[in-house]
Amino acid sequence: MPPLPKRKYAKTRQRLRRQHHAVQRPKLVTCPECNETHQAHRICWACGMYRGRSVIELED
Ligand SMILES: [Zn+2]
Repeated sequence: MPPLPKRKYAKTRQRLRRQHHAVQRPKLVTCPECNETHQAHRICWACGMYRGRSVIELED
């Protein structure tokens, strides 16, 4: 049997790759309609608007 590497990737290689894997907190932007904060590229759950038009009908 030939000599085999102990591991597929060196510890440093694995760590260098994984240093970009951290989960980021969601980006919050201010709604231009109601000035509430909501996630970027998502509808505003306070007023139901997205890109200046009403997307859903909110109860109450
Ligand atoms: Zn809004």
